[in-house]
Amino acid sequence: MPRVRELIFLGTGTSGCIPNIPCITSNNPRCKVCKLSMTPEGRKNQRRNTSLLVRVDHPDGRIRNIVIDCGKTFYESAREVFIKHNIETVDAVLLTHGHADAMFGLDDLRQWTMGLNLSIPIYCDKETMGTVGEAFPYLVDTGKATGGGAVPSLAFHVIHDSFSPFQCLGITIQPLRVEHGTYSDGRPFYFTGFRFDDISYVSDCSRIPDETRLLMAGSKLMILDALKWTSHPSHFGYWDALDEVRYFKPERAIFTDFCHRMEHSELERYSEKLKEEENLIVDPAFDGMVVPI
Ligand SMILES: [Zn+2]
Ligand SMILES: [Zn+2]
Repeated sequence: MPRVRELIFLGTGTSGCIPNIPCITSNNPRCKVCKLSMTPEGRKNQRRNTSLLVRVDHPDGRIRNIVIDCGKTFYESAREVFIKHNIETVDAVLLTHGHADAMFGLDDLRQWTMGLNLSIPIYCDKETMGTVGEAFPYLVDTGKATGGGAVPSLAFHVIHDSFSPFQCLGITIQPLRVEHGTYSDGRPFYFTGFRFDDISYVSDCSRIPDETRLLMAGSKLMILDALKWTSHPSHFGYWDALDEVRYFKPERAIFTDFCHRMEHSELERYSEKLKEEENLIVDPAFDGMVVPI
């Protein structure tokens, strides 16, 4: 049976990435993190768009690679991580939602589909599918392609039921529908996180509905949004994410999706304090971090 072998964080930052360029070019005195990110000792503060690579051991011996979110910096992530770990294929992509930092790298998948003559299955909810169709009409309907039709071959699978698991490359995946802010009329905007084995991944979240809590319960590893220390209208702050760790009590939590107010060594120091005082394992993610399962 296929089993998750390891996770690699392709990106751990917000949509704008870290460093924010104006923080450096204008020498923004209020931002120490962006400047620090440019130094060798502060390198873990350099952050691309939040994304995770799930590597799966398959009985046929070839490792399968599932990418969760393929944002604006997917190419840079792949250039660093895929080359370093000798990762040749993208075997499936799971999209969490239709924001630019989750899906604007979809066009770059052509390097893997055309170069390797593959079609890549893409899984997303209905609303995200609509956004993909508006942003990239030629990806959804190759009849709309121009210039010889050199577009990635993608096979879209819409997740119609957010509460039932689906199969992806032999792995059972449970969607985790959470709120990621609201529209101006107050309706929630939904983000689809994913649970596979005992791992729950919810990288952009402002509220976990009760029905989704039931689906996340018992996870041994939880990867959670912690944009900044305090709350944000569409994201957990660190304290919100920590409340969830205290509620769910996973064996280990990893926080991600940090903005430029979050300094990596400071986060590490806070992790030590949590370990000492509450026996909680809460690690800050960084780009390129490898988590063996
Ligand atoms: Zn900054
Ligand atoms: Zn988002």
